[in-house]
Amino acid sequence: MRRGLAPVLEGRTIFAARLNRPDLRWPLPERMAERLTGARVLRLGRRSKYLLAELSTGETLIVHLGMSGRILVSGVALGHFVHDHPAPQKHDHVVFEIEGGARITFNDPRRFGAMDLTATDALDRHRLLAGLGPEPLGNGFHELYLTGRLGGRQTPIKAALLDQRVVAGLGNIYVCEALHRAGISPLRQAGRIAAARLATLVPAIRTVLTEAIEAGGSSLRDYRQADGELGYFQHNFRVYGREGKPCPTPGCPGTIRRVVQSGRSTFYCPQCQR
Ligand SMILES: [Zn+2]
Repeated sequence: MRRGLAPVLEGRTIFAARLNRPDLRWPLPERMAERLTGARVLRLGRRSKYLLAELSTGETLIVHLGMSGRILVSGVALGHFVHDHPAPQKHDHVVFEIEGGARITFNDPRRFGAMDLTATDALDRHRLLAGLGPEPLGNGFHELYLTGRLGGRQTPIKAALLDQRVVAGLGNIYVCEALHRAGISPLRQAGRIAAARLATLVPAIRTVLTEAIEAGGSSLRDYRQADGELGYFQHNFRVYGREGKPCPTPGCPGTIRRVVQSGRSTFYCPQCQR
């Protein structure tokens, strides 16, 4: 999503911001439209699952899609397509008009999404960002870090990897996929996995995320994103959503099983994930 939005936003001024309600998951910041209008986006960054638009006003806009949030881009080319501005839809909560003709619409039926504005020099201390673990694709996430962080943990490895203080931005689907690639059972106690086995998790997580980012990029260029939408997209998963299907690991006779852990679905292969 960041890669899709960057060409539309970076270096451009927000001409107008329209708020159709005072809150999403939490109240929107005070005078939000006023604080955004006329601001130029210097850089579009990301930390964990938060988009960070650094503004010329010294503030940064933080955006989180929540469970059901979507961002629609219209009026300019997105990938190979240019979309006319759509008719207003129900759940269009926040709309930005951008220099260059783009309109960015934030639509979120369930309103678990969030937006906030904070001083850029205090960004690291923001309540949503402070305490987040390292980025899984960054240099701070490696075998030694992970073994140190998980040592003594009695929670299942799946719960430990979903803990944003251990590693930032990993969600339910990609944890299931990474554990399958690493051959580790999601039920196994985090502190009792041998270092050599944990070592395979780091590249497994990186591969799963890198492939997902590439698939997001290709979905921008093909029909799947032809409606100008950025957000969650369906991707080919090896275990997620495949209960009862044969395990895709070459030579494995297992069948994918679904269990519920901490209220979330876990998909795994009991044969090759130990
Ligand atoms: Zn298997």
